Amino acid sequence: MSNRIAYTKPSITEREVAYATDAARHGWGARCYDYIHRLERDYAVHLGVKHATATSSCTGALHLGLAALGIGAGDEVILADSNWIASVAPVVHLGATPVFVDILSDSWCLDPDLVEAAITPQTRAIIAVHLYGSMCDMDRLLEIGARHGVAVIEDAAEAIGSAWGAKRAGSMGAFGTFSFHGTKTMTTGEGGMFVTNDSALFERVTTLSNHGRDANEPRQFFPTVTGYKFKMSNISAAIGCAQMERIDELIGRKRAIMTGYRQLLGALDGISLNIEPEGVTNGYWMPTVVFDRDTGVTRDMLIEAFRAAEIDGRVFFWPLSELPMFEARPDNVNAHDIAARAINLPSYHDMDEHGQKRVADVIRGLLKA
Ligand SMILES: *Cc1c(COP(=O)(O)O)cnc(C)c1O
Repeated sequence: MSNRIAYTKPSITEREVAYATDAARHGWGARCYDYIHRLERDYAVHLGVKHATATSSCTGALHLGLAALGIGAGDEVILADSNWIASVAPVVHLGATPVFVDILSDSWCLDPDLVEAAITPQTRAIIAVHLYGSMCDMDRLLEIGARHGVAVIEDAAEAIGSAWGAKRAGSMGAFGTFSFHGTKTMTTGEGGMFVTNDSALFERVTTLSNHGRDANEPRQFFPTVTGYKFKMSNISAAIGCAQMERIDELIGRKRAIMTGYRQLLGALDGISLNIEPEGVTNGYWMPTVVFDRDTGVTRDMLIEAFRAAEIDGRVFFWPLSELPMFEARPDNVNAHDIAARAINLPSYHDMDEHGQKRVADVIRGLLKA
C-alpha cells in the first residue's frame, strides 16, 4: 500500500452502495425521480429552507440562479478575488462582468467595506463564497445588499456544516448553492443543490433547469423559454440520500480533523489556521495553514516539502484576477499575498492521527528551516 496521504477522498459505506444499486436496478419509469425528490426534501430540512432542487453541479446551480435573477450583459457581479473559477464562470457565460474585491486576512472571505465601495448602478449581485468553510460576514453583506437593492447570493459549496448564528450557510441569501463533487464534505460523485426561500425564484429555476418546461404548462414537450439541462441523475441522488443520513458524521469528522490540527499546530509561532469567531460555526472543509510573512516560507517551498513527504498539499486559490482571462488587480493585496504563503492540508474522512502527525511534522520542519 502506498504511503501517500490524499488531501481528500469521499467516505463511501455499504449504505451508499446499496442505495446506488437500488437506483440502478429499480429507479426507472415511474420511480425515476424517487431519490432525487427525497434528497431535495432531506436537504431542505437539513438547511432550514423552503425549497431545494438537485443539480448536476454547483456551477450549474449558480448558473441557474443567476439566470433566474435575470443577470446578463451590462450587469456587474461582485465576488472575492480568492476563489475557484466555478464561482465566476457562470457570471461570464451569462455575459455579466465580474468585479473582484480583496479578502479579509483572517477569514479569507470578501471584505464588506470593499464590497460596498465596489457597488455601481450596474451592480446586480454579490456572491458570498464561504471560503474553505469560513463564513462571510452575512449581517453586513445582507445589510449592504438590502440598502443598495442588490441580491446577495451564497456559494456555500465549501460550507456544508458551517453556520452564521443559528442559520446554516446557504440559507440566508437570495439563493444558496452547494457542490457534491467528490472532494466536498458530502458527495454524489458529481452534483449540486440550489436552495432558496423565494418561491417565485424557485419556480423560475426549476423551469430553467428542465429545458424551460414550466410545471404548469399543460402541453407535453412544450418549453416556454430556452432553458438549461442541469438536473441531477437519480443514481447520483441515491448516493446523496445515503450521505444525508450520515451528514452529522461527515461534518463531525471534518471538525474533529481540524481539532486534531489545532492540537498539533495551534501553539506554533509563525502560522495561522482557519478561524471560528464567536457566533460562527466553521464546517472546516479545508484545514489551511498560512505562514507569516517573516517565516520566509513560500508556496513553492510548501509544494516541494509536501511532495517530498508524499502528502497531497493543495495550493490556496490563485487570485482569479491573476488568471489570463481576467484583468489584473494587483491592489487586491491580501488575495495575492496570502495565496503565496499558504497551503490546504489533507482532511479526508478516514484520515487517522498518524497521518495528521506526518502533516504537522512537515509544517514544523518548514518553520525550523
Ligand atoms: C467546488 C466548488 C464549486 C464547483 O462545484 P461543482 O459541483 O464542481 O460545480 C463552486 N464553488 C465553490 C466555492 C467550490 O468550492
